[in-house]
Amino acid sequence: VWGDVRKKLRDVVGESNFITWIAPLELTGFRGGVAQLAAPTNFIANWVNRNFADQILRALNAAGAEVHRLDLAVQVRVPGTRPEAEDSPAPAAPRAAAVAAPQGEELPGAPLDARYTFDNFVVGKPNALAHAAARRVAEGAAVTFNPLFLYGGVGLGKTHLMHAIAWELQARNPEARVLYLSAEQFMYRFVQALREKQIMDFKSLFRSVDILMVDDVQFIAGKDSTQEEFFHTFNALIDQNKQIVISADRAPGEIKDLEERIKSRLQSGLVVDLHPTDYELRLGILQQKVDQNRANYGNVSIAPDVLEFLAHRITTNVRVLEGALTRLFALASLLGREITLDMTQDTLADILRSSERKVTVEEIQRKVAEHYNVRLSDLIGPKRLRTIARPRQVAMYLAKHMTTRSLPEIGRRFGGRDHTTILHGVRKVEELRAQDSQLSEDLDLLRRLLES
Ligand code: ADP
Ligand code: MG
Repeated sequence: VWGDVRKKLRDVVGESNFITWIAPLELTGFRGGVAQLAAPTNFIANWVNRNFADQILRALNAAGAEVHRLDLAVQVRVPGTRPEAEDSPAPAAPRAAAVAAPQGEELPGAPLDARYTFDNFVVGKPNALAHAAARRVAEGAAVTFNPLFLYGGVGLGKTHLMHAIAWELQARNPEARVLYLSAEQFMYRFVQALREKQIMDFKSLFRSVDILMVDDVQFIAGKDSTQEEFFHTFNALIDQNKQIVISADRAPGEIKDLEERIKSRLQSGLVVDLHPTDYELRLGILQQKVDQNRANYGNVSIAPDVLEFLAHRITTNVRVLEGALTRLFALASLLGREITLDMTQDTLADILRSSERKVTVEEIQRKVAEHYNVRLSDLIGPKRLRTIARPRQVAMYLAKHMTTRSLPEIGRRFGGRDHTTILHGVRKVEELRAQDSQLSEDLDLLRRLLES
């Protein structure tokens, strides 16, 4: 099993994380839903616990092992010795099972991440509505938005909010039957129940909860019998006035191969989307993660401009932002000195490169033409008018600085001009921008427009 799991993890966490954190681990056994792993050092054990437990659990479960918790032990070469835990970070809080089972019966939920609480969720413009709706549901008073449907791109906080709802409900009412699971797990349980002829048990179990949360529901698209069962579970719970929370990577109407009746059911409550993060939100999240990490790793420090740099440059996905920060913390704690901007650019070169927004020469030409109010065909064409020559040079300059195209390649995109002509244009703008404040402002503005 471990071999397969490792292979899968390599894809999930990326090569460098894999080598640093996963490869040194050994699977030493299973006991009562707990997978036992051995790590060579306390540092690695804690790191893995904090940062990769989720992915490891998921990979283990996908490989057929039914585990809900990891137990990471430090295994040193000399038997019988255990390293001092003194200066190592405290182990992560144990992951609670997703459910309280009043009748002593286990609900088939997924484990909840202890870090995914409302306290740890940073609220900004892009996620304010989703956050408020999740809060309202977590208060559990009256079922108002049913279902609550959260959608948005990868890494924008859907799973975090769902776990937060579960934690909060559980804290307010330990008896509440809260069931959180992914759509994939829903299907897995369903298929298993079919196979073992326990479909009645399955049905009654899912109908006995107070709140059902199904994450990444787009997964059941195209899976007909699972959709059918999901539909019935859904209706039964709504009929009993039980809360349902669903997430997906897109709006209900846009999920392909999902039955119409399910789409319309999903749209019948409150549908809220998590918008892509903005700069302020990213900076807020980074600051919060730094504070959290500081609590665990002590006197590690990161220069303030590093956070601003990251918030500017890594715009796609909060998970990537976190990964970047994790790596910086590892570096800081290994080197024992402040992380500077230079070190950041060096260490994160791969992440920065892959999260760069790729601007094309064509986009640049379009934006420049728009900005200077000239025709795109004129900008690219042969006219030599002064009113067109300057915008054209600006576009050449931006193409050279914002894309990886070579001068001949850019020349081809400017109506087949020679590379020396392009170079001349680029130089001209470089020369002028120092003295011409209007030009320099134009360039900044265009850059910002193209980068966002
Ligand atoms: P999704 O389920 O939408 O793909 P997740 O909920 O898994 O995204 O979020 C990815 C990571 O980013 C998680 O570690 C989560 O804690 C973090 N994250 C996302 N949004 C926020 C936020 N607003 N505040 C704090 N952490 C966030
Ligand atoms: Mg998710």
